Amino acid sequence: MTAYRSSWLDDDLDAVRELARSFCEKEIKPHAERFIDQHHVDRELWNKAGELGLLCMSIPEEFGGGGGTFAHEAVLMEEQARIGDTSWGQSVHNAIAAHYINSYGTDEQKRQWLPRMASGETVAAIAMTEPGTGSDLQAVRTKAVRDGDEYVVNGSKTFITNGAQAGLIIVVVKTDTSEGASGISLVLVEADRPGFRCGRLLDKVGQRGQDTAELSFEDVRIPTSNLLGTEEGQGFIQLMQQLPQERLIIAVGSVAGMEEALAQTIAYTKDRHAFGRPIFGFQNTKFKLAEVATEARIARVFIDDCVSRHIRGELDITTVAMAKWWTTDRAMVALDECLQLYGGYGYMTEYPIARAWADNRVQKIYAGTNEIMKEIIARSL
Ligand SMILES: Cc1cc2nc3c(=O)[nH]c(=O)nc-3n(C[C@H](O)[C@H](O)[C@H](O)COP(=O)(O)OP(=O)(O)OC[C@H]3O[C@@H](n4cnc5c(N)ncnc54)[C@H](O)[C@@H]3O)c2cc1C
Repeated sequence: MTAYRSSWLDDDLDAVRELARSFCEKEIKPHAERFIDQHHVDRELWNKAGELGLLCMSIPEEFGGGGGTFAHEAVLMEEQARIGDTSWGQSVHNAIAAHYINSYGTDEQKRQWLPRMASGETVAAIAMTEPGTGSDLQAVRTKAVRDGDEYVVNGSKTFITNGAQAGLIIVVVKTDTSEGASGISLVLVEADRPGFRCGRLLDKVGQRGQDTAELSFEDVRIPTSNLLGTEEGQGFIQLMQQLPQERLIIAVGSVAGMEEALAQTIAYTKDRHAFGRPIFGFQNTKFKLAEVATEARIARVFIDDCVSRHIRGELDITTVAMAKWWTTDRAMVALDECLQLYGGYGYMTEYPIARAWADNRVQKIYAGTNEIMKEIIARSL
């Protein structure tokens, strides 16, 4: 295939890619099966990544980060996707949770948490979804009631990535239950607070090595200084401002996953024979792979434009919603076509294509379902 290089890459990012690739190959790939069996990565993986400077790469250096941009996070995300790993919840920690603190935290909150997150001493999670509500974030019922200079937090969250390993959870709460969106705030809850409990690790169709958990808060007392920022009722606006980056990360991962599946399937179909010739020799195989290659390229060009715009601070919520639904949708179609070309082996979990197919399905669901993405797009029409 003709070579293609993303316009936002440069020499510095090539060096980051090399580092990320060797980390993924050495520290994740050989342990993939164990991570899947235990439903989480080894806790030390975070510290090892921190030592190499692979955590919080897009957080300013004064708070312990790498001083880079979203492009640094995208490169790590792509390298993780290339080894087919979904066990390490690094993007929630690096490109999501750290950015809430960096964007809205007080100077004290940033100094307290960001250096620890950059070193791997603290793993972070963000807890929005509840058993009773996911898409309709305004309907969250977890509440933080003020009692002197403390908040008392009560409620439960579910499907939380990094839920069990997190030392710090950014929790979406209602500080005013009589209000909808304007009653929402984000609070920082340390996992060692009495009354906080991490429940079972959830057994999922894919992403089986990723720590995804239920969390409960029973009269958890936190100081009012744990409110993210200084003003109550800002949570919904903060979420709306940060969700585009979360959606872009998913789109970046989907495109990298599509490209990897294509490369693997080309190699497999050239090697596997039927009726005296490689599977690749059948016109159907070539046409299917030509279609996947075309869609992967279109997705790549679109996502590169989104990444460049995002780095310039120009990516709008509608365009990122387009990127999220379309790339995750096309990645699933591509993975299904590729899996088909493996025959029965495509259905065996020991084949990366089978894992990728199962792992990618959730991309259409989380960070705002694809139906919600279309709602967002439709509002702009
Ligand atoms: C593996 C995994 C990891 C996750 N990690 C996190 C995490 O770290 N933190 C976190 O907070 N959450 C996390 N989530 C939760 C995820 O973001 C939610 O599952 C998602 O937002 C959908 O919410 P829901 O499951 O409640 O579905 P619902 O909101 O109940 O939706 C059910 C269906 O109804 C559709 N629907 C809902 N409203 C509309 C509408 N207005 N128009 C059209 N259709 C609609 C949806 O599109 C969907 O098809 C994770 C989920 C999974 C599976």
